[in-house]
Amino acid sequence: MAAKSQPNVPKAKSIDSITNDRTASQGQWGRAWEVDWFSLGSIIFLLLCAPFIVYYFIMACDQYSCALTGPVVDIATGRAQLSDIWAKTPPITRKAAQLYTLWVTFQVLLYTSLPDFCHKFLPGYVGGIQEGAVTPAGVVNKYQINGLQAWLLTHLLWFANAHLLSWFSPTIIFDNWIPLLWCANILGYAVSTFAMVKGYFFPTSARDCKFTGNFFYNYMMGVEFNPRIGKWFDFKLFFNGRPGIVAWTLINLSFAAKQRELHGHVTNAMVLVNVLQAIYVIDFFWNETWYLKTIDICHDHFGWYLGWGDCVWLPYLYTLQKRTLRQGVSEAELQFDPRPPGPGAHTPVLSLGKAPLDPFPLVPQGLYLVYHPVQLSTPHAMGVLLLGLVGYYIFRVANHQKDLFRRTDGRCLIWGKKPKVIECSYTSADGQRHHSKLLVSGFWGVARHFNYVGDLMGSLAYCLACGGGHLLPYFYIIYMAILLTHRCLRDEHRCASKYGRDWERYTAAVPYRLLPGIF
Ligand code: NDP
Repeated sequence: MAAKSQPNVPKAKSIDSITNDRTASQGQWGRAWEVDWFSLGSIIFLLLCAPFIVYYFIMACDQYSCALTGPVVDIATGRAQLSDIWAKTPPITRKAAQLYTLWVTFQVLLYTSLPDFCHKFLPGYVGGIQEGAVTPAGVVNKYQINGLQAWLLTHLLWFANAHLLSWFSPTIIFDNWIPLLWCANILGYAVSTFAMVKGYFFPTSARDCKFTGNFFYNYMMGVEFNPRIGKWFDFKLFFNGRPGIVAWTLINLSFAAKQRELHGHVTNAMVLVNVLQAIYVIDFFWNETWYLKTIDICHDHFGWYLGWGDCVWLPYLYTLQKRTLRQGVSEAELQFDPRPPGPGAHTPVLSLGKAPLDPFPLVPQGLYLVYHPVQLSTPHAMGVLLLGLVGYYIFRVANHQKDLFRRTDGRCLIWGKKPKVIECSYTSADGQRHHSKLLVSGFWGVARHFNYVGDLMGSLAYCLACGGGHLLPYFYIIYMAILLTHRCLRDEHRCASKYGRDWERYTAAVPYRLLPGIF
């Protein structure tokens, strides 16, 4: 529920006045009001290409054993046509639609109907009703923080099913992976479109809406800042955290289960990626209150970028490693069932045995799904684990330092010492002057976004766990490097607009963005 930070907030303006009255707003530090050609081009590119990028990766795994060049080579050499590839793509199914509906409904229920209980018995965990940051219009929203509880209950149910109830197979996510992709897309587009319409016609907080006059930009980057339904259903918190991030660990578990089903064991690489990513996910929910103060929640508006991104991009591309890791069987162990394409032909029928490989060399490569073993040597596995844990340590400590510093208003110790501070101020759209502080100690004195470096080290560890056989799992580190570099520049631009000369003092004190001496 939105509560005001100051009692004398002016009455809400009409949508038109918000659309046009840029000078009236002093809170110019949020999302852009104007779109340059480069931003517009990038947005149109992403709107058009991102769904195909996801499809391409998932299809390359399904039909070409995760060989990214496979489809292009086949089409270029005439061995396959686009229509062949499309014909082999599993369609949406009733089962997938039911599963997905059940999944999202379950998460909505956990989010809206089950007030947090965990903070009552878990020492150090901050849950229950918490406040977000001051929005550009000067609003402070309240949130029901119960993500850890939702994650725990969901996983408890998952393990209860796997070991006791047997309602469904633990490989269910893997087995319906592409049909579920269509469902996720439907939800992603529906929620983004709904958020856009809502922003225009019935926004939760009209003063925090932003319109650029460009339809594509508004659709992609969002109009409403914090769209809500009712008192507690906050779109950003829900879609960012659940269903995508709760699903992340379940998807990993389902892939591990599939690997065991196919090969009789789970490789150490699969275990490593499961463990490292589970740490990241549990950390996210343990620190959900901190998450309210991150860019996603306190600066980004809710549009396609978050709506579709959380429903499709995150669960499908953040878990690519496991798609490769399931290939943990040697070629000689595979026996193919060369049944002609037909219903269900997309699902490779494999059985373990000693059949000769490649019985139909002229059949397109995608039908084969040749599996490669990824069992890491002990030094390789230990190296990956170390990199992942050091990355996580930097990520967590850096984020904790800023959070602690902001929560205590600087009255804390950072690396055992009183922190160095830059006092700063900014003005929100309601004309109120606010004061804040920038931390210049700890990791925030090493570089201005050293928390991203920790994240990047962790991301690299997931990729290195997949060995060097495929380019595809390395997509994640490439994507994260682009995402976080762009995010860093975007955030710095916003902070410079928000804090003006105070931000310049910070950049003078801490000259590097990510890596000291380099960038
Ligand atoms: P940050 O947590 O770094 O938040 C940036 C904000 O912090 C700034 O806008 C500013 O906000 C405030 N700030 C900046 N410098 C200082 C300082 N020196 N002292 C105090 N406050 C400061 O960014 P994100 O929200 O992007 O990232 C949070 C974490 O989430 C990161 O570790 C990142 O790696 C991770 N992440 C992961 C993603 C993934 O897909 N896996 C995607 C995005 C992020 P204010 O206006 O309040 O001053």
